[in-house]
Amino acid sequence: MNAVRQPGALDALRFDNAFVRALPADPDPGNQRRQVFGACYSRVQPTPVRAPALVAHSAECAALLGLDERACLSPVFTEVFAGNRLLPGMDPYAMCYGGHQFGNWAGQLGDGRAINLGEVLNARGERWTLQLKGAGPTPYSRTADGLAVLRSSVREFLCSEAMHHLGVPTTRALSLITTGEQVMRDMFYDGHAKFEPGAVVCRVAPSFVRFGNFEILAARKEIDLLRRLVDYCIATDYPHLGPPSRDTYVAWLAEVASRTAVMIAHWLRVGFVHGVMNTDNMSILGLTIDYGPYGWLEDFDPDWTPNTTDAQGRRYRYGQQAQIGMWNLVRLANAIYPLIEDVPALESALDAYATRYESEWQAMLAAKLGLQALTDDADRELAEELMSVLRLAETDMTIFFRALAAVPCAADASLDELALLAPLRAASYAPDTLPDAQRSRHLAWMGRWRARVQRDGSPDAQRAARMNGANPKYVLRNYLAQEAIDLAEQGDFSRVNELLDVLRRPYDEQPARERYAAKRPEWARHRAGCSMLSCSS
Ligand code: AMP
Ligand code: MG
Repeated sequence: MNAVRQPGALDALRFDNAFVRALPADPDPGNQRRQVFGACYSRVQPTPVRAPALVAHSAECAALLGLDERACLSPVFTEVFAGNRLLPGMDPYAMCYGGHQFGNWAGQLGDGRAINLGEVLNARGERWTLQLKGAGPTPYSRTADGLAVLRSSVREFLCSEAMHHLGVPTTRALSLITTGEQVMRDMFYDGHAKFEPGAVVCRVAPSFVRFGNFEILAARKEIDLLRRLVDYCIATDYPHLGPPSRDTYVAWLAEVASRTAVMIAHWLRVGFVHGVMNTDNMSILGLTIDYGPYGWLEDFDPDWTPNTTDAQGRRYRYGQQAQIGMWNLVRLANAIYPLIEDVPALESALDAYATRYESEWQAMLAAKLGLQALTDDADRELAEELMSVLRLAETDMTIFFRALAAVPCAADASLDELALLAPLRAASYAPDTLPDAQRSRHLAWMGRWRARVQRDGSPDAQRAARMNGANPKYVLRNYLAQEAIDLAEQGDFSRVNELLDVLRRPYDEQPARERYAAKRPEWARHRAGCSMLSCSS
C-alpha cells in the first residue's frame, strides 16, 4: 500500500517525464565528453556535493510545483536540489543542442552544466521541468567542469525571480544552494584564477528547449529526429496549433517569433540587457533563459553591453537586442527548412516578429510615457526625442521614468523651471552640472509632453499609476547584486533574501527600501561585477 502523501511535501510531487519518454536517448550511459548523434539527450546523474546549504528559495516558484514552506525548509529539499539525492520518479538527463555563438556556428554545445531532474505535473495540470545548474559534468561539458560559482548563481537566482515579478517572460528559480566545495575560476580570463564557493541553482520552466536543440539536428542532417522534436514541442507546448503538418510548422515558427518579440520588448521596457543572445540561449517558449553576464541599464546608453567578452563588437548591446532576436529566428527558420521547403511561407512566418515587436514596443513606450497610445508620427517623434535627451549626459533610465510619472500635467498646474527639471535632476549622475543642451531640450520636451498628456485627458493620479505600472522602481541594479554577492561570499545570505523580497514588488513604492532604488554609487562605476561581467561563471 502506498504511504499517505502529505500535500505540499516533496514526496507528493508527481513526475511525468514526457521529454525522455517521447524522444530518443543517447545509448551510451557513460559520462565522458563526446559528440552525441541520433539522440536528443543523455542520461546523467548529478554529482553529489560535500556540504549543501540552502541560501534562498522562492516560495512563489515552489507554489507552482505545489511545494509548501515546510517542504522547502526540510533537509531533504536541500539534498535533492543540491543533486545529492533523487526523488522517486526523477530521471536525470542533459540535453543535446548546438548554437550560433556571436554570429558563428559553434557545433555541439549541450547542457554542459545543467541536469534536468524531471517534469512535475502540478494540480492544475501544468508541466514544470526541474533543472539543476552547476550539478557536475555531463557528456556535453567539453573542456569545462560542469560547476557554477556562488557569484553567478546568486545573479541567476535573483534575476529569474525579479524578471517574473516585473512581468517579463522568464525561466524561474526554485532554490540557491551552496555546495561546501570550492570551484576554480579565472574571472577575466587573465591568468588570475582563484577558488570561489560553488553553488547549484534549481531552475524551473515548462521546457528548457532552445533554438539550438533544432539547429544541431539540422546541421547533422538528422531530419527524422528534427521532425520528431518539432512534433514533440508542438504537441507539448503549442497544442493549440493542431496536429503536425507543414502549415502547423509554419504557424509554430510564427508563434515562436511572436513570443520572442514580446520578450525582447519587455527587456527594453525594463532596461535589461541579456548579454549573450546566442541561439543556444534562446528559449523555444520565448522565455528569458541563461542569466550569465546580463546587466541593467543604469545610465541610459543604448550601446551599453555588460559582457566583457562582447566589448569589442557590442553585438548584444541594449539597443540591438530586437535585431538580434530576428537574426536568431532566421537561424531557427533555416533549421526547420527541411520540414517545410517553402521559403516564402517561412519568410511570412518571420514577419510576425517585426509586426509583433513594433506593436508591443509602441504600446509599452506609450505606457512608459503615460499615453493611451502612440497614435501618429508626432507621438513617435516625441518618444524618440526623449531617448535622445536622456543620452546627452549620464542619466538613470529607471529613476527618470518614475520621477516623470510624478510631474503634474493637469492644465491648471503651472510649473516653474525647477519643477520641470525635477525628473532630469533626480536621474542625472551630475545634477548640478547638466549640460546646457540637455537642460534646454529637456525643458522643451517637457512642454510638448505635458501638452500631449493633457490631450489624452486622464487625471494625473490615474496616469501616474499607469506609468508606474510600466516603469519599475526596483530592478536588480548591477551593484545591488554585487553587494549581495560580497556578503554571500562571507557566509551572510541576508541580503540575497532581502533583495528577493524587495524585487517581489518592483512597481510599488517601498518607503523603507529607498536605498534599493538608488543610483549606482561611484565605487561601482568600474568595479568588476557592477559595470562589467565576463562569461566566466
Ligand atoms: P553559456 O555561454 O553559459 O550559455 O554556455 C555555452 C555552453 O557552454 C553551454 O553548452 C554550456 O552548458 C557550456 N558551459 C558553460 N559553462 C560551463 C561549465 N562550467 N561546465 C560545463 N559546461 C559549461
Ligand atoms: Mg547557455
